[in-house]
Amino acid sequence: MAQLDYYKTLRVERDASAESIKKAYRRLAIKYHPDKNQGDKEAEKKFKEMNEAFSVLGDAEKRQKYDSFGHQGVNGGGSSDYSNFNDLGDIFDSVFGGKAGNFSDVFGGGRRRQQRANDLQYKINLEFEDAYKGCEHTFNIQVHDTCNECKGNGAKDGTSVKNCTRCGGKGVTISGNGFMQLQQTCSSCGGRGSIIEETCRSCNGGGTKMRSKSLQVKIPAGINDGDKMALRSEATHGDLVPGDVYVWINVKPHFLYERNGSDLYCSMPVDVFDASLGSKIELPTMSGKRVKVNIPAGSQNGKILRLRGEGMPRLGKSGQGDILVEVKVETPVNLSKKQIELVNELKSNLNQDKVNHSPNSQSWKDKLKSLFK
Ligand SMILES: [Zn+2]
Ligand SMILES: [Zn+2]
Repeated sequence: MAQLDYYKTLRVERDASAESIKKAYRRLAIKYHPDKNQGDKEAEKKFKEMNEAFSVLGDAEKRQKYDSFGHQGVNGGGSSDYSNFNDLGDIFDSVFGGKAGNFSDVFGGGRRRQQRANDLQYKINLEFEDAYKGCEHTFNIQVHDTCNECKGNGAKDGTSVKNCTRCGGKGVTISGNGFMQLQQTCSSCGGRGSIIEETCRSCNGGGTKMRSKSLQVKIPAGINDGDKMALRSEATHGDLVPGDVYVWINVKPHFLYERNGSDLYCSMPVDVFDASLGSKIELPTMSGKRVKVNIPAGSQNGKILRLRGEGMPRLGKSGQGDILVEVKVETPVNLSKKQIELVNELKSNLNQDKVNHSPNSQSWKDKLKSLFK
């Protein structure tokens, strides 16, 4: 399936405000809503696409990830798939408060909405190396299956389920006057709309049974600490519309490298002689190679050396960032009497010389001079 450009799908500019994205979505959603286009495959396709686009652009955090990482940033490389056309109305309703009848008002209502199961959250701890290479992770979540014994109605096999008399089967009670009404879940039936005479022993009347479900998530190379991936419709609960499972990524720090975007940073101690004369120092990269970092003669403390393409893979894009090596010049300590003599000798030799051996000190002294003029 070709990946959508979410901005084009909603017909908005890339810098559109959250408000205008919402407006654009609303306008399109009204046009292509399933209630209005029953059986129209093209409208169905458009509606699905818009919903997918809005589920990302309508959420500030997801939008930012989409802007930075493309599709991989928001759904782990796969396309969101809404298998049930009617579920789509629920996304719209949840955005524009359809529960209050808002959308139904537009089309004269009538569609009975199915309740959606809760989303589940799961946290995965990754080694830094796994975030670099990408990996697959298998984990278990607890889901609720419809009870086999009672087929989900919670009544002991053969016993009857009666309509709740308190709410008349609606599951909610309404109190208050015409000006302000309060809608509450019915206290007699707990919102089910029915009363059970004898509860199912197998599920204690809940209608569902908990089970452990194994899920596999493919983590793309370059994923970062704090990223979130969605496994759509995996949080099943009886016959409710399934919720999503959100996988939060926690990446352990690396002993050598610190990540900044797709670049990796490390500091490298270089003794004053190697910094002065130039040297090659070996450095292990994330790909397992050992590269020789060239320290040019005359390197000053704080100099940054760049190893192109050795950084983290760019999520949702091609290529890799860089490794940045900061030179930390180290002066020798614990000198013997003889060594102090030698350093002093070198110092006086350098001082007698006409050539400038300390580029930074000289420019610093020049600055001070101009200040005291
Ligand atoms: Zn049961
Ligand atoms: Zn009731």
